[in-house]
Amino acid sequence: MVASHNEGKVREIRALLEPFGVKTLSAAELDLDEPEETGLTFAANAQLKACAAAKVSGFTALADDSGLAVDALDGEPGIYSARWAGEPRDFGHAMARVDNELTARGALEPVDRKARFVCSLCLAHPDGTLETFNGTVEGTIVWPPRGTHGFGYDPIFEPDGEAITFGEMDPARKHAMSHRAEAFDKLVAHLSRHLETE
Ligand code: IMP
Repeated sequence: MVASHNEGKVREIRALLEPFGVKTLSAAELDLDEPEETGLTFAANAQLKACAAAKVSGFTALADDSGLAVDALDGEPGIYSARWAGEPRDFGHAMARVDNELTARGALEPVDRKARFVCSLCLAHPDGTLETFNGTVEGTIVWPPRGTHGFGYDPIFEPDGEAITFGEMDPARKHAMSHRAEAFDKLVAHLSRHLETE
């Protein structure tokens, strides 16, 4: 099962796992509560969501956690990436906060604005075993925001080797190079090895 209430995420994950004959159920379909994300790392939060879901459902559960880590902000917003957008979510505000805090620290040049998106995926089995897969994509924070594709912090993130932001990039291209893609590639490689030997 996929320990997520986000139907977009669940759809993507279901499509990825289908070739392995893995049937997926979402946290919403199983009426599971969302645990509080009390971990201090992306991996810890993915693990606690996956463990809680595996425990309650009795199935192997997959959960993810992701966000933006900015070097000059000591890794912030990090695990608080969604929370920086407030409630209701306003990523215009969250992006401006990243730029303001960088400016306040004198980080004005691209070389001082290095950042990465991070994604942790965790598979939790009902017997308590955990498997974690991490992915990252390196880049630079730009200002002002550019582009209307993607979501969250995409309009201020220019991946290394590109002259456009994730917000300006064709979504298929972003999905091929993103932190989520790298973590999923590792999960799929693991499943291929694991399911081949069964
Ligand atoms: P969660 O993984 O659902 O907890 O959300 C993490 C937050 O990190 C999202 O709300 C976004 O703000 C941010 N984030 C994660 N991945 C991306 C991405 O690919 N683009 C832009 N923002 C992202």
